[in-house]
Amino acid sequence: MTEDPAKLRRRANALVIFTASAVALGGLLGWMLPGWLPDDASARNTALMVIGFPGDLLMQMLKMMVVPLVVATMVVGVASLGDIRKAGKIGYRTVGYYALTTGMSVLLGIILVNLIQPGAGAENLQAAGELPQSLREPKGALESLLQVVKGMFPPNLIQAGAEMNVLGLIVFSVVLGAVLSTMGERGRPVTRFFESFNEAIMKIVHLVVWFAPIGIASLLMARMGKAGDAFFTQDIPRLAKYMLTVILGLGIHVLIVLPGIYWLVKKQNPFKYMLGMAQALLTAFSTASSSATLPITMECAKTNNKVGDRAAGFVLPLGATINMDGTALYEAVAVIFIAQSLGMDLSAGQMVVVFFTATLAAIGAAGIPEAGLVMMAIVLTAVGIDPANAGLILAVDWFLDRFRTAVNVAGDAIGAGVIDHLETRDAGPVPAVAG
Ligand code: ASP
Repeated sequence: MTEDPAKLRRRANALVIFTASAVALGGLLGWMLPGWLPDDASARNTALMVIGFPGDLLMQMLKMMVVPLVVATMVVGVASLGDIRKAGKIGYRTVGYYALTTGMSVLLGIILVNLIQPGAGAENLQAAGELPQSLREPKGALESLLQVVKGMFPPNLIQAGAEMNVLGLIVFSVVLGAVLSTMGERGRPVTRFFESFNEAIMKIVHLVVWFAPIGIASLLMARMGKAGDAFFTQDIPRLAKYMLTVILGLGIHVLIVLPGIYWLVKKQNPFKYMLGMAQALLTAFSTASSSATLPITMECAKTNNKVGDRAAGFVLPLGATINMDGTALYEAVAVIFIAQSLGMDLSAGQMVVVFFTATLAAIGAAGIPEAGLVMMAIVLTAVGIDPANAGLILAVDWFLDRFRTAVNVAGDAIGAGVIDHLETRDAGPVPAVAG
């Protein structure tokens, strides 16, 4: 995704202003709404249905994007790595670093959200749609694990799409992308088709995102109108706890895990390195877009931190689109939080599904504002939760987006430093004595 960074920044800022205003306005109207609603139950329900209608539309649109988004982003993401049989050492190292750090951040998110349980005790919080009974009863670990593996190889791709078997679609798309990457010229037409398809889908996502503020205000009003006081006594504290869980996880990842890796590999002060990246991190925070931040990330890495061109030129651009530690952590926390809010006990197998799909959703998410939110529908669907339940999370997403984007950029930056160190170490100083 190469778009004009200045344009992306303007778009991000406009979106944030709209979304924040929508939250404020929706919150204010929603707060007054219970007093305005008719007393008669059926008239009340009709009013709430109409008020919540744009919100329902937003949720339907997000769901609509799931299948094409998964297929397009995964095929293109993998195919764009180049012939995977020929990826050199820098390729393996970079992908290894991405996989390791993304996996660690998802794991951290899963541990924290299970410890803190921000969604627990929400008896009356079914935001939308009832869960089928089968999902409320956790299955045995072995049984659910086997079921997960089986789901990865759907017997029929069309059916997998219709049933929103996201994991099955991901596996197929990754394999398709990998195979295409090895086919050289003969694979190009199909790869190009998916590239263009992907771009078109992203354009549709851009449109949906503009509608989001209206949908968010509507969701908020409908929710507050329906819940009355319970919104303040139940929803708000839970939402605050959820946000704290995400921010705590991101904080641990960016202040302990990533610096730890840097120190282990390079034996140098990681915080000095981070300080050199400060401008990029602040830009990421203020634009909520790693793509828009990329030029500054590269500049900081090269100028302030003396990262070599090769590492900076390979690790950072690739990382801006596929390495998103912050997004990965957020996906896991958000989805498990929603499950908790629905009173659903996720089995061990489902946690494993969250682990993998959150990782893949982060890889697939574009480096633009709120991309992670759209991808969250994928993770939700993979564990059998209707994305319509994401409801309230939308209202605070624009805020969390900034934190996770900064962590995404920090992950890329540390990666560039680490890979640069390994590459220069291999190249050796100047070979002193031959033989
Ligand atoms: N805004 C994030 C980024 O650009 C992606 C996301 O929404 O999580 O890195």
